[in-house]
Amino acid sequence: MRELSRVIGSEHVLEVPPASEYNRDLSRRRGVEGRADAVALPGSPEEVRAVLAWCYEHDVPITPRGGGTGLTGGAAPVQGGVVCSLERLRRVRELDPALWRMFPEAGVPTREVQRLAREHGLLFAPDPGAAEQSQIGGNVATNAGGPHALKYGVTGSWVAGLEVVLAPGELLEVGGWSAKDVAGYDLVSLLVGSEGTLGIITAVRLRLLPAPAVALPLVLFMDGREEGCAAVAQILGSGLRPSVLDFLEGEALTLLAPSYPGGGGGGAVPAGARFALIVEVDGSREEVRAQRGELLAAVEGLVVHVDEPPDAGALWRWRDGVNGVLTGVRGAKVSEDVVFPRERLAEGLERFERIAAAHGLRSCSFGHAGDGNVHATVLVDPSRVQELDAADAVGEELFGLVVELGGSIAGEHGVGWSKRGRLESQWPRRAVELHEQIKEAFDPKRLLNPGKKLARYPARSPLHKARKEGR
Ligand SMILES: Cc1cc2nc3c(=O)[nH]c(=O)nc-3n(C[C@H](O)[C@H](O)[C@H](O)COP(=O)(O)OP(=O)(O)OC[C@H]3O[C@@H](n4cnc5c(N)ncnc54)[C@H](O)[C@@H]3O)c2cc1C
Repeated sequence: MRELSRVIGSEHVLEVPPASEYNRDLSRRRGVEGRADAVALPGSPEEVRAVLAWCYEHDVPITPRGGGTGLTGGAAPVQGGVVCSLERLRRVRELDPALWRMFPEAGVPTREVQRLAREHGLLFAPDPGAAEQSQIGGNVATNAGGPHALKYGVTGSWVAGLEVVLAPGELLEVGGWSAKDVAGYDLVSLLVGSEGTLGIITAVRLRLLPAPAVALPLVLFMDGREEGCAAVAQILGSGLRPSVLDFLEGEALTLLAPSYPGGGGGGAVPAGARFALIVEVDGSREEVRAQRGELLAAVEGLVVHVDEPPDAGALWRWRDGVNGVLTGVRGAKVSEDVVFPRERLAEGLERFERIAAAHGLRSCSFGHAGDGNVHATVLVDPSRVQELDAADAVGEELFGLVVELGGSIAGEHGVGWSKRGRLESQWPRRAVELHEQIKEAFDPKRLLNPGKKLARYPARSPLHKARKEGR
């Protein structure tokens, strides 16, 4: 601690009690917990460089931390050492509305990036759910998505360049404002989604877009999954490009129904509806009107009720309440972020439900239907070890199913600690070897966020450990 204090000043090096937030991210509900020896709060990229150089020189693990909203334990310092929190890097270095550009430092909250863009008539579309607390650096490190990724792509699609600190302690820029650049290997894309295992991002060059004039949300209610997935296929097959195509089904919808903030006069969730699609179309006023008509024509015969909620903000707050509501049912939930190929969404949802039922667990799903990105959820009582075992078994079979159907074990939340090693089930052996070689090239001492992403897979879920320790 004392030595590290000499590098960035004692007031910016913290001791951490075991219960500190710096030892975990929001996957703590699943029991992932680290034990940092110290937290460093560097105030500039040069100080980040100095902290990493010190860790590398002294063989100390270093875990980069953004807003701590991750859901896979990525920011938990599971092997101890130093947590390097980017929270003091909050300057927006450049914002050029005429050139559709912003250059925020890594610690700028996601919501602020969205707000600044909007205030200048521009759009930064990535919208992961915890935007008040998450940081742009954390979004880049996880390649975060959100509802609008359907039309506008995940965070990486918006990144033109990165300022990054690499081992053993070097500050480097990759990419830049050049509109086209095919000269080298795509190092920017390699660092995007690397979850702090290759380097520490200190600033991000973002390409923005002119904001659409209007965004109209619609909620389509259907009797069941078959109609819901058919509607997704019909909408996309008709050539429409909605900006959002999210879904809630089964118990997720039933439990949220009482608080639905629909329009007056029939704006409630219809009794018996088991599937809801939240759709948004955007563009000019005329384009939106036309898309609305085409959309309703595309889903004719499948939908029992169409609602136009008057307050889009209230609609999204309602949708985002799903995590809390599902957790409240039995005390905990285990949600896995997976992707099914779009055309096999109905089959994936159906088979997941059967897997959970075979293990005696209640289940439901929600997520980004247009991308096939599903948060497949089982509801558990965390004090019952048999249920935790059953949830592990469901997860195991679910990941097998995803691979069998040609999907992905991670759609937007990353791999982190809780899904470490699972790449091996999805990718060919040679591709995994290449990942290992890339890790070796960037981090030969394996000190950058050790135990994450590429490490071996755990035998049991961390909820077991949390239960034993009474957390
Ligand atoms: C209620 C809720 C809803 C969510 N909804 C979504 C959603 O819709 N879509 C989605 O994609 N995610 C979602 N998430 C997950 C989470 O918000 C995202 O993964 C987010 O991008 C994490 O950002 P963060 O700043 O909190 O990063 P952290 O949790 O602090 O870190 C995440 C990972 O990135 C690394 N990291 C962080 N900052 C840096 C940096 N500067 N340089 C290098 N590595 C770094 C960490 O080591 C860690 O591995 C949701 C989370 C919650 C709690």
